[in-house]
Amino acid sequence: MISQTMQDAINAQIKNEFYSAYLYLSMSAYFESLNMPGSAKWMRTQFGEEQTHALKMFDFINDRGGRVMLQAIDLPPSTFASPVAVWEMVLEHERKVTGLIYQLYAQAVKENDYAAQTFLAWFINEQVEEEKNASLMLERFKQAGGNAGTLLLFDGHFTKRGE
Ligand code: MG
Repeated sequence: MISQTMQDAINAQIKNEFYSAYLYLSMSAYFESLNMPGSAKWMRTQFGEEQTHALKMFDFINDRGGRVMLQAIDLPPSTFASPVAVWEMVLEHERKVTGLIYQLYAQAVKENDYAAQTFLAWFINEQVEEEKNASLMLERFKQAGGNAGTLLLFDGHFTKRGE
């Protein structure tokens, strides 16, 4: 059985994962508006992955005999300064999410909740991937700078993601 504290903390993280999904969908809309279908698709794939994260937590609470309580999702930004600014925000956001997962893990350690520790280890590994991908994309877009041709070339490479 999951503790009330752990249940509350994971319920809050379900909301955070859905916020991540919503943020990436908003970024996808932004890239669509710039006619950058590759980046738009990358963000849309990310939107799907974040929902999967939320549902993993949803299932974990239920599997442990807890009760899922959904919370209001914050409104994400709908406009961004530039493609580079989007990738800067992605990296900053994923670092913040890593911190939130670490807090959950610390709570699991404090409670000697070994099932939660094992469950959360997957998310810790996932965050290493997320931060690595965000850093890579940010560097690529920074290198392109204001060069529209290079930006579109990069964008073309991302159309294959998720296929
Ligand atoms: Mg996530």
